[in-house]
Amino acid sequence: MNKSLRTPLIAGNWKMNKTPAEAAALISELKPMVAECSSSTILLCVPFVDIDAAQKAACGSNINIGAENVHFADHGAYTGEISASMLTEMGVKYVIVGHSERRQYFGETDETVNLRARAALDAGMKPIICVGETLTQRDQGITAETVSLQTKIALSGVPAEQMKNVVIAYEPVWAIGTGRTATTAQAQEVCALIRDVIRGLYSGDIADAAVILYGGSMNAANAADLLAEPDVDGGLIGGASLKPIDFTVIAKAAEA
Ligand code: PEP
Repeated sequence: MNKSLRTPLIAGNWKMNKTPAEAAALISELKPMVAECSSSTILLCVPFVDIDAAQKAACGSNINIGAENVHFADHGAYTGEISASMLTEMGVKYVIVGHSERRQYFGETDETVNLRARAALDAGMKPIICVGETLTQRDQGITAETVSLQTKIALSGVPAEQMKNVVIAYEPVWAIGTGRTATTAQAQEVCALIRDVIRGLYSGDIADAAVILYGGSMNAANAADLLAEPDVDGGLIGGASLKPIDFTVIAKAAEA
């Protein structure tokens, strides 16, 4: 398997942080710092209300702006939700789907994650589909089963020709926002497992081309080691993506 077949993706997840003005200020600061990161895709997934300001601030740079969620219906009585066509009309190409915080606090299930991912794909976007086990599931020894099932359900009904737009993020729930990072071996083991699941569902070529991220307390100190693993093609980064210096160190680690 040749890792150079895949373009690394360094994706920030701002969660519910930054007003539009704060978003513009952070991106203006970050822009020159990551300007030379040319071999990876740099992405910031920001709150919906920040998208416009973030795009304007990022204009002319190598920073892409994505969203943090998308609904599966195109329109209708879904108060508070945002559809794929609303995002594509704004020029949004990437969207996080199924983040564990959405699953934990907002009742999202493997089935709704699948519907949201398919809506994003049908609209021509690239969903970053998050999967990962809880600490209890890891302790019970069912990490592989949990992540395989989540991945299979998320990809249910996704045709092979859309797989070039799918990104999977392995995010162990116990590592998100906790400062407790998976070891490089744990991250590699599960990212490789996800690639195997894709190989089983589709083909070797599709699996080899699939971009698989690690997320969970990735930071300036641990990024280089995690990103050096053969099946880790980038990171989904929460807390550290709000700190321009730390995010830049991570982005530069992906260049190495
Ligand atoms: C995330 O929000 O996807 C995430 C990985 O957060 P953190 O980096 O803060 O653990």
